[in-house]
Order: sequence, then C-alpha cells, then structure tokens
Amino acid sequence: MKRTIFVLILCAGFAAEGAKIEPPFQGDARPARNIMIGKKTVFTLKPGTKELEIVLAPEASRTTRFAAAELKTLLEQRLNTTIPVRAAPSGNGISFILGLQPLSKEAGIDKTLFCRDAFIIKSSGKRIYIAGIDDPRTDPAATLRMDIADQHYPRATLFGVYDFLERFAGIRFFFPGKFGTVIPKGTVEIPEISIFDRPDFEERRASIYDGIFSDDPNERTVLLTDHDGAKFFRTQPKQPNRNMDYLRFRMSTRWVPACHGITTLRFPRRFGKTHPEYFALDEQGLRYGDPKRPYPSQLCFNSDSPEVIYQDVKAFLSGQSAASRGIEQPFKRDNTFFYWHPQTHNEGVADLQPDDSYKECLCEKCRKRIGKTPREKSDFVWNYAINIAERLQKEKVDGWLTMMAYWPYDRIPSRKIPDNMFVMLSLRGPWSLGSPDEAKHHETLQAWHRALGRKVRLWNFALKWGNSALPGIPHSTPRHIGRYYRETAPWSCGAVLLTGGDYYIFSYLNHYIFSKVTWNASADVDTLLKDHCSAMFGAGAPEMLKFFDALEELWMKVAGKTVLTAAGPVNAIPSEYEIFTRIYSAEALKRLDVCCERARELASADPDSLERIRYIQAHFMNRLHEAASDYARRSDAVAAFRVRMLPLEPGEKVRLDGKLDDEVWRKRSPVFLQRMNRKPGTPQEETRAFLTFDEENIYVAFLCMEPEMNQIQTRIRKNDDPAIWSDNGVEIFLNPSGDRVNYYHIMMNSDGFVCDQKVRRAGNQSIFDPAWNSGIKPAVFRGKDFWSLEAAIPRSALPGFDGKTVIANFTRNQAKDSRIFHYSWTPFLENGYHDTEKFGTVVFTPEPDRSIVREGDFSGEKTHRNVFGAWVTHYYFPEGCFADYDDSTFIQGRRSLVLRTGNVPFFGVSQPLAFKSGTRYRLSYYVKLNNIRPAHRDGGVSMNIRESGKNRWFPQSGNFLSGESGWIRQSFEFTAGPDAGTQPGSIRPTLLSCDGSANFDAITVEELK
Ligand SMILES: [Zn+2]
Repeated sequence: MKRTIFVLILCAGFAAEGAKIEPPFQGDARPARNIMIGKKTVFTLKPGTKELEIVLAPEASRTTRFAAAELKTLLEQRLNTTIPVRAAPSGNGISFILGLQPLSKEAGIDKTLFCRDAFIIKSSGKRIYIAGIDDPRTDPAATLRMDIADQHYPRATLFGVYDFLERFAGIRFFFPGKFGTVIPKGTVEIPEISIFDRPDFEERRASIYDGIFSDDPNERTVLLTDHDGAKFFRTQPKQPNRNMDYLRFRMSTRWVPACHGITTLRFPRRFGKTHPEYFALDEQGLRYGDPKRPYPSQLCFNSDSPEVIYQDVKAFLSGQSAASRGIEQPFKRDNTFFYWHPQTHNEGVADLQPDDSYKECLCEKCRKRIGKTPREKSDFVWNYAINIAERLQKEKVDGWLTMMAYWPYDRIPSRKIPDNMFVMLSLRGPWSLGSPDEAKHHETLQAWHRALGRKVRLWNFALKWGNSALPGIPHSTPRHIGRYYRETAPWSCGAVLLTGGDYYIFSYLNHYIFSKVTWNASADVDTLLKDHCSAMFGAGAPEMLKFFDALEELWMKVAGKTVLTAAGPVNAIPSEYEIFTRIYSAEALKRLDVCCERARELASADPDSLERIRYIQAHFMNRLHEAASDYARRSDAVAAFRVRMLPLEPGEKVRLDGKLDDEVWRKRSPVFLQRMNRKPGTPQEETRAFLTFDEENIYVAFLCMEPEMNQIQTRIRKNDDPAIWSDNGVEIFLNPSGDRVNYYHIMMNSDGFVCDQKVRRAGNQSIFDPAWNSGIKPAVFRGKDFWSLEAAIPRSALPGFDGKTVIANFTRNQAKDSRIFHYSWTPFLENGYHDTEKFGTVVFTPEPDRSIVREGDFSGEKTHRNVFGAWVTHYYFPEGCFADYDDSTFIQGRRSLVLRTGNVPFFGVSQPLAFKSGTRYRLSYYVKLNNIRPAHRDGGVSMNIRESGKNRWFPQSGNFLSGESGWIRQSFEFTAGPDAGTQPGSIRPTLLSCDGSANFDAITVEELK
C-alpha cells in the first residue's frame, strides 16, 4: 500500500477529520495569497559577493535539495559567484533557509500553514526562508529524464525559489536553452519580504510537450498508443528540456484524470468475447468491443457494464490492485502515487468519461430508454455517472470521480451532481474571444458553476489542428490566452489548454502567459508582455512587442474568422488564397520583418538582446516566408493551368441532340478529365469536355466513355434537387468574374435532370443560392459504350461573362454499382469540387503556341518501349529505371510522362532543341514528385538544357527537387550562349542520383522578345 503519502501532503489546516485522500480541488477552502514587500532595500548583492549561503537540513528530501540546487546554479550565474550549501548557518552573511526544517519551524513556518503548491518567502534579519510542502520520495533530477506523468509530485519550495529568482533577481524562464532563459547582470537588491503565495488555478496544464523544438537535436516525436488503441500522452516523452520548462512554469503537481477514463478499464480485452452485450450495438447490428476497431470501448449502459465499472472504481478507490480486477497495467511507475493508469485512475480520483468518439448504443433497451432530444441523450450518459457517484457515497467509499462535459453529453444534467464528482467542461477557449460565441461561451461556464455550486475545470483549445494546421504559421496569441483565463478565473479551478503545433517556439509565449495568469489571475497581461520584451530584447523591446502583437492579430484572422451562413455564424478557416494574399500578404510579412530589423538597430549595442532578436526572427520569419513561398509556388501552378477553346465562328452551329458528331466539336480540342484519388490499376474511363459560345449562348458538351452502360445509376429528380450529385452525371463550375468567390454551378444527370445554383465561397464553406436558374436544357445521347451531353446556357444568365476568359472546372460523377467515382479537369482540388482556388482557366482568345518544344503535353504516340513521340530515352533502361506514359494524372492533354529511377547518376528522356545564340528563353514545366529520396546533396529532379556545349540545370545543382508533392510548376529564364547556333541543343527532364519517381507535363520553352 502506497497510501501513506496522502496523509503527508494533506492540507492539515483544513482537511476534514478522517479524510484519507486529498481532494483534487479545494477552491476557496485554501488560504488567500498575501504578498508584502518592503519599499526599502535591505541588502544589496554585488556581482562576486561572498556573503551568500544556502542552508539545507541534513534530512532534507531530494525535492528540497533540487530546489537548493536550482537556487544555487541560477543565483551563481546571476551574481558571478559561488554559493556554499551548509547544514547550519555560518553566522556570516546572508543565509537562504530552504524547505520545512527545524530552523523554519523556529521562525514560525510549519506545514500546517500550507496547501498544495503554496510557498512562503520570508526575510528575517540576515535570513531568507523559502519553504513549502515537498514530496519526500521523488528525485526530481532523475524524474527529469522520465515522462510527463512522472512530473506530478509536490515541490512547493522549488516554486518559492523560482518566485524569488523572478521577482528579486530578474531571472526569466521563457523557453529552454540559452535564448529562452534570461539571466540579467548587475546588482540584486533585496527588500523586506513576507510572501505567502499559491496558484489561483489548482490545475495548470498546457501542451508544452508538443511541437518540434529545433534547438534540441535529441528530441524525437513519439506518439504513444496503449493496448486498446487509445492514444496516450500526445507528447514527446523523456525530454529533460520540456520537463524543466514544466517545472519552471510551475505547472500542475497533480494529474487529475480528465479524459475518456473508461478506455483504460480495458473492456474490449476483458469482455470483448465473453460479454458482447456490455458493448454498444452499431448501425450494422455489430457490437463494439473488438480491440482492433477504433474507439472499441463504446458501451451499452443498459447492460451490466455500469455494474462492472462501479466495482472497478470501488476496488481502485479502496486501494485494490488493477490485477485484482483483471486489468493489465502497462505503465510502470515506482516513485509516486497509487495509480492504475496515470491518466485515468490516479491519486484517489477515477475518471468516468466514456470512450472518445462516443457512439450511442442502438440495442432495443437503449432505443427505448435513451430518448430523442439532446437533453435526454445528454442526461442518459450523466445518469450512468451520477448513479456510480451516489452509490459510492452511500457505501462510504472515500475518493473522487471526474466527468467531462463533452458533446453530446454536454448539457447540465437534470439530476444533481454529487459532491464526490468534479466536472471538466470542454469549451473552445481563448480563440473564442471576440467571436460571436464569446458571450454564449461565458454563459455556459457560469451556468455550470451555478449548477454545481463550485468551480469547474476547463478543457480548452488553442492549437493548430485539422484545417488550421497550416505549417509554418505561428499561432502565438498570448493576449487572448491571458485575457481568457483572467476572465474565467471566478468560475474555474483548473485548466488544460491544448496548444500543440508544428514548432514549439511558436507557442512559447502562449505557455508563458498561460502559466503566469493561471497562477495569478489578477496578473496584468500587458505588463507581463512588456516585461518579456524588455528582458529578452533590451532596447529592441518596443518593436518586438509590436512584432508579437502583429503576429497575434494575424493569427486571430485565421483562428477567429467567422462566416455568416444560413444556419447562423460559423467558424471557418480562411482559404489558403485568403491566408497568403490577404492575411499573411507580402506587405504583412514585410511589416513583421521591419519590426525585427528596427529592433536589431535599437539593440545594436547589446549583443545578448541582438542575438535573441535574430533568433526570434529566424525561427518565426524564416518559416513564415517558407510557407508563403511554398504557397506562391503552388498557386502559380494553378494560375498557369489554362486551356484554349475557340468561340464559334460566324456560320458555325451546335445541333443540340446530345451527339457530338457536329463539325464544331471535331474542330476543337477537348479537355480531358482525370479520376480523382485513383489507385494504380483501377479503371478510368475517358472523359472529354468542351466549352464554347456565340452571341446568344454558352455551349457545353461532355463525352463520357462507359463500358457498362447498363450499370449506371440515376433517378428522376425534381428541378434543383441537390442530391443529384449522387447520380451518374456531370457538373460544370463557371466563375465569370474571375474572383474565385462568386460562381455558378450546374449539375446534370445522364437522364438530363438539372440542379443549378449560384454559389458564394466564404473561406472553406460554400453558401448556395438555388434561386438562380441557368435556363439550361441538356440533351443526352446514350451509345453502346458511352453517353454524351450537349447543352446551351443563355448568356443572359451569366452576367460578367466577357468572352475572353472564364475560371472553370468540369467534373464527372460516374455512379454505378452503388459506387461513385469522381473525375475532375483540374488536378489540384484539395477541398472537394467547390475548391474554386484550384479551378483552371479557359481562354477564348487565340494565342499562338510559341513553345519550341514539340509535344510538351506528351500527345505523341509511344512507338517503342523507349520512344514517346518526340521524346526518346535510353534503349535499355538502366537498372531500376523505367519510363512510361501515365494517364492517371496530367496537366495538359490526357497523360503525363513518368520517370522512375533507382539511384543511377542520370535518367531522363530528351528531345533535340534548336537555340539561337544570345536569345533569351523562358522554360516552364509541371512536375509531380513521388517520394524522391536523393542519395546525396546533388541528387533529385531537375530539367537539363544543353546548349553551346554546356549543361544547364533548372533548378540548379544543390537545389534539385526532392520529396513528395502534388503538381508544382517551375519557371526559369536564361540566355543561350554564343555557340548555341552551331552546337546541338536538347531538353531533358532528368532524375539524378535518387530513388522514387516523377511525372512531367506541359513542358514549354518560349523565346522572349
Ligand atoms: Zn444498449
């Protein structure tokens, strides 16, 4: 039994008689903060002083010794001196008396004064006492090399040491390493001190273990998953740097379970085979409980499963082992508290929250009892938890339970929540400030507070996740985080803030301000941020404050964006186009750079500050610029995705019979559609589309090859039935204004039924107006192995159509056999058919083809294994190398060329090209990289141009393309050398010293005038 520890760390002053387990939250039962600091300086410590000593009792715990070591190391650096550690005061100079010991007891400081995390700093004569309750068994120095779960033990003397160092020695802990730890120089002045402090939020956790910290080469990103497939700590374990931050930010010393506690009772392994009735019944009539299924612990609460959970929890709270209930414990910890699972059954608290991705049971009993309304459904889950809590109370089982209020069981329950249950409330958090949900958000928190009659724990989000993952863009929002926890403090006793992202440094100020405001909710955020800037950046502080404020303002346009829809305001992440052209625009990035440049000028006389400004500029701005240029590179590929279609000439007519036998179509080149997300070896039926116009109408035509005409599926549809997308058919998207926001969308099935609508794109959402009518009347023809469609749209229905260009896309829904295959002309779609930013451009004005490359679209016939029309490669492919046409992905025409290589020095396909000396050319091509792994620095993909007896590379050596990408466009200019006219020239897409494959298409070389 390891329970004795609870007695030792009790808040002896106000613990109830007979209570064995410290409650996880004590709220206002704790003594109040009381800070008194004299105005006059009592001691002035000069650099090099020999007056200091640290006094540790011989029996001091390793936790107290660790606090002494931190004080010694940091103060020695601060004062450029050495500080001895003694067992008793020497009587000379100033003594720091550390921890609870006989000397502090003599001074009236003993453990009855404290609650968890509370410390005293008190000066008296030539003594400074720093003390709080410390864990007697943990070895913090060893624990630093362990997991986050091991960082939970009382260490209040250490908190007192950090407070002393920050408050009186000006030391700051912003992030690990020399740039993030600020140790000023000069004298330290110490006034008369009487401090009693403890945190306002009893729980303080942020995801400081997420994201890459590039200063530490030892860091690994590891995601732990436990036996039932439940994701465990989303952290990078065993990282002394992060753990050190955790200590110095004074974050939680106790892990209070809060997340899907049922999963670690391991129902699937214990009962998956023997008691299938314990598990929820799904739509297919199958029970959950198969450990291989995602989220398998979905339970039927109308079975005996609540009884099993009750017995498990009772055993845990009564100090029985997990094994006594047949539960395996995969996590071994030897130095701290009694637990079954550090995340869910820990220190006298058990978490009752159902498994993630909650599924309601569909068994007969549940269907009768769960109810229909959101309130009934929410109550149903809460009833299960409240029943267990009440029964434990009745049976006088000591201990606590937790539940998270999480959709769909997020309503305040109709029944009273018993006192032995603590509620965690999942709310959006800091980034809801300033949004239309802000008022509702605070009202929800207050309503729970009223219903419970005590403070609520918060589970909040300020992380880059899903749509907002956006690599390279910093999500630094300290002002929102500070304001949020200041405002919610009256109703909250703890907070877990998820702050993960790609880079740790992006969130360092989020973590710092979170740690300060959750400790002291009356802390002034503006003062903290100004202090941070002057500590870090010296004279550059004002400009760096502007820099961080600008970053926050920009990010809130991303995370706080709201769009009005028919269903009310919704949060929407702006599109990439908006992000890089309107938010992180070239001008905005320039302004940020200017802040850093000015700060560097201002701090030019102060090397330490200068180095920190450079560090921040490099870690924030380089990544932002990379993200912006990556977008520019990709969007350029879309902008250049153009096809020419000619308008009807006088006398030309389209006969609208559905057959594409008109002369009109024979004279024009179609665009070809490609099947989206097609797996190699699966079929793709040729699909062509045409667009043209005359004075009256715009004409569209589709030819869809279909070997199984008897399998296609359509329905009879009312006009404007949006479900028509699920029929066999085609769709066209036209954006005459070219704004990629306001466009027209027409869906037609292969029986000629239509749904047409005007659409407005708002971020990644589309707002539909079905009232618009195109006036289209499609004619459909069914052949033996194809179907085709012709239709006219009156130009009067398409205001803004100027007959020069139109942004467009053509798609096909091949519905047969209960399956739908999607085809699109543009190969760039990322967010479904309505991803207007990825549409192509149809150009109606004749532009001569000026490229000197023949068959840059690979339209020539393959006449030999190594001859692709105008392009020729080695007759014998080198080992591991291969070239072929690829119709699964292309930019122009109906196919691209794919080259595969196996680490040979060169593999390419070439055609001769005649260059003129002294002439300037522009080379452009599209390339798609498929896991290109270079063997060395000069390996990768490039375009070789040979002229004047010289090889040129685009991009150049050292900068060859590698990795994985969708279609990207490359464009370069060069001037041909003096011997271009006499020496043979050539162009050759090439793979050099790498493995993997690359597709090439739309290769052009144009003479520039
Ligand atoms: Zn059921």
